[in-house]
Amino acid sequence: MKDIREASFEELENFVVGCGEKKFRAKQIWDWLWKRGVASFQDMTNISAGFRETLAGNFTFHAAKVADEVVSGDKSVKFVIELHDGKAVEGVLIPQGDRVTACVSTQVGCPLNCAFCATGTMGFVRNLHYSEIVDEYLLLDRRAESIYGRKITNIVYMGMGEPLINVENTVKSVEMLTSQESFGLSPSRITISTAGVTNGIRTLADKDLRCGLAISLHSANPVVRREIMPVSKRNSLADLREALAYYHKKTGDRITVEYLLLSGVNDTEEDAEQLARFCRAFPVKINIIEYNPTENSSFIKSSVQDRERFINVLKRCNMVVNVRFSKGRDISAACGQLVKKRKD
Ligand code: SAH
Repeated sequence: MKDIREASFEELENFVVGCGEKKFRAKQIWDWLWKRGVASFQDMTNISAGFRETLAGNFTFHAAKVADEVVSGDKSVKFVIELHDGKAVEGVLIPQGDRVTACVSTQVGCPLNCAFCATGTMGFVRNLHYSEIVDEYLLLDRRAESIYGRKITNIVYMGMGEPLINVENTVKSVEMLTSQESFGLSPSRITISTAGVTNGIRTLADKDLRCGLAISLHSANPVVRREIMPVSKRNSLADLREALAYYHKKTGDRITVEYLLLSGVNDTEEDAEQLARFCRAFPVKINIIEYNPTENSSFIKSSVQDRERFINVLKRCNMVVNVRFSKGRDISAACGQLVKKRKD
């Protein structure tokens, strides 16, 4: 049986008419699914009980649910979201000033195996369907309202998985979240983060989604980057740079560069100079991220002195730099840590 949220509007219309119902029922069902974000046929209260049963007899409804949540001392909350097949992904809510940022996953597990990331150690399980990504937003938004009394203001695709390996569902989820026919969120408040899948970056550039792009660079040295991010073997730094320049050319957007400082790995003055050189091809904002230690990993975060020295080099090179202190460290909020703990 097909899941109802995998049906196009036309399919729904044909189904409804085929059942002898009025055509406008399709629009009603569509709005329940894609405007109100209900989690079951039962919630479609303007559809007769009889027709809801017909729907349930012909379509599945793959709803996700919050299976666990952990509150951090800094008020961020991490969620385990259980999907219809029992697989789990993570979502995080991060309140900051008048913002509430939701971090969503795009895959169960991840095939990229970045050396510092907990998700990579789980291997790849499956892609999320776009309705599951939308569900993460819907579930987290409800939780944000009850926890902080506010709705989500920003969404970052920085949970488990690589969005641009699941590019079709990623794109479709952004379209659903931002379409005026649907949830109507502002695309400028959505950021997709990639480890550097170059063809995916080009695909995004051609889509005109109007959302932001972040690249998890973590090293501008080809040898080091291949070592800590194996994705770089098939998506070379040179090609990445070209893809990002293309993205900028097509969208006019400044690109966010994420850089995780790892002691003795990527934090020398030379590394900073190399980073600044890499970023000359397009306008960037560099976010220096603090490493969140994961189990069985030998990396150590850079010292405050090394970090300051690194940032000073970037500033001397006229780069825009922010430091992002790790949020939710006490709740294992780094990519993949919570689901992994649960599995273990
Ligand atoms: N695959 C995408 C999105 C998921 S990872 C990407 O790579 O961008 C989201 C961010 O968390 C990435 O910048 C990633 O490099 C970073 N990250 C992973 N493990 C981390 C850790 N232990 N500490 C800090 N940041 C981490």
